[in-house]
Amino acid sequence: MADFTLSVEQKNLRELAHDFAEKEIRPVAWELDKEGTWPQAIIDKAHEVGLMNTHVPEEYGGPGLSYLDGCLIEEELSWGCSGIQTSLGANGLAAAPVHIGASHEVKREYFDELIGSPVLASFCLTEPDAGSDVSGMRTRARRQGDTYVLNGSKCFITNGGHASWFTVYAKTDPDAGHRGISAFLVRKDDTVVVDKKEDKMGQRASNTATITFNDTEVHARYLLGEENKGFKLAMMTLDRTRPGVAAMATGIARAALEFAIDYSKQRVQFGVPIAMHQAVQFMIADMATKVHLSRLATWNSAVLLDQGRRNTVESSHAKRFAADTAMEVTTDAVQVYGGYGFIKDYPVEKLMRDAKIMQLYEGTSQIQRLVIARETLLPRRVEQPAAATA
Ligand SMILES: Cc1cc2nc3c(=O)[nH]c(=O)nc-3n(C[C@H](O)[C@H](O)[C@H](O)COP(=O)(O)OP(=O)(O)OC[C@H]3O[C@@H](n4cnc5c(N)ncnc54)[C@H](O)[C@@H]3O)c2cc1C
Repeated sequence: MADFTLSVEQKNLRELAHDFAEKEIRPVAWELDKEGTWPQAIIDKAHEVGLMNTHVPEEYGGPGLSYLDGCLIEEELSWGCSGIQTSLGANGLAAAPVHIGASHEVKREYFDELIGSPVLASFCLTEPDAGSDVSGMRTRARRQGDTYVLNGSKCFITNGGHASWFTVYAKTDPDAGHRGISAFLVRKDDTVVVDKKEDKMGQRASNTATITFNDTEVHARYLLGEENKGFKLAMMTLDRTRPGVAAMATGIARAALEFAIDYSKQRVQFGVPIAMHQAVQFMIADMATKVHLSRLATWNSAVLLDQGRRNTVESSHAKRFAADTAMEVTTDAVQVYGGYGFIKDYPVEKLMRDAKIMQLYEGTSQIQRLVIARETLLPRRVEQPAAATA
């Protein structure tokens, strides 16, 4: 657990992702950000070289990479552009509940699709009146014979406008709060309407949409896990995906740190490069420490998963710390650039806008603190393997 030495394969994987970020993502990222242009060509290429769907197990034709491997890729691609990585990585979020809760046949059907071509999937939990508190969701799933019929709207859905299928959370027992939620795998058809594409502050190349289900029929074999156990499935999913968000936040912060280092060596004020002023040096030192600790917390939360151990508090530590770090470090990078940092011709203002979402999606920084407070004040006595808590 204490040894974070990467294997040769992991170093190669990280290099592959870094090269991809440097050659395919960075050259276009700031341009795509301007108009919020969808990065289809990059998605096609990332799929081709194997940088998507990394957690699909080998038995379903995927690479079956570890969570730590996934984090290495996510940090590098987010160093390129976290908006584009959000588009590339959302399949992992949508596929996690399928991996945990679907039958072998359903996994085969849907994972084959992900591996075969660059199709996209979305994770549909949030609703207009149910964000942090998902128990307030209104989407309903009514059982009718062998099928469930879904009605309701989900908002802020990543890749929603481009997804071929969705993992959707809906109330099967509306009076039971979070104990009345079930999860379903829903294929896009005429009853599924994409209502709105959001115009966002940051991560503008990613797609964020509202999805409405109008009498959408889903066969009972596409119920994920057990009926009314969807909340637990969602929480288990987030335990698995928050290390990836933390890795993304680390990638953004690292990019900002690198830009700030380069700029501070070039920009001359009072006759010396500003890097010679101790106030700037100390800002850079603090930025470097925070990036380093973000990565350590991220890797720690991923390795626990790879060992089959519960990582709830560690993934919240990592996500909260790395997200707040991304915001702080990108803000400091703008400070190092001075007035130029505020101008769109320079790279760091985009990073500061992109960083903000890290504190919001997959549980806000406040919600991570709630998890950490609960786990710290009322620690669980017996550590269960993660898979045994389903
Ligand atoms: C770009 C983008 C992409 C997204 N992608 C997806 C996706 O793919 N799938 C999906 O399902 N959702 C997605 N989301 C939704 C995201 O997860 C939610 O926005 C987030 O969970 C917060 O919910 P909310 O926006 O309703 O804020 P609210 O829950 O209304 O929170 C508002 C504020 O109150 C605070 N707050 C709320 N409750 C508490 C509390 N108990 N204690 C302390 N503070 C509290 C919050 O931290 C926040 O600061 C996305 C959102 C965005 C913006």
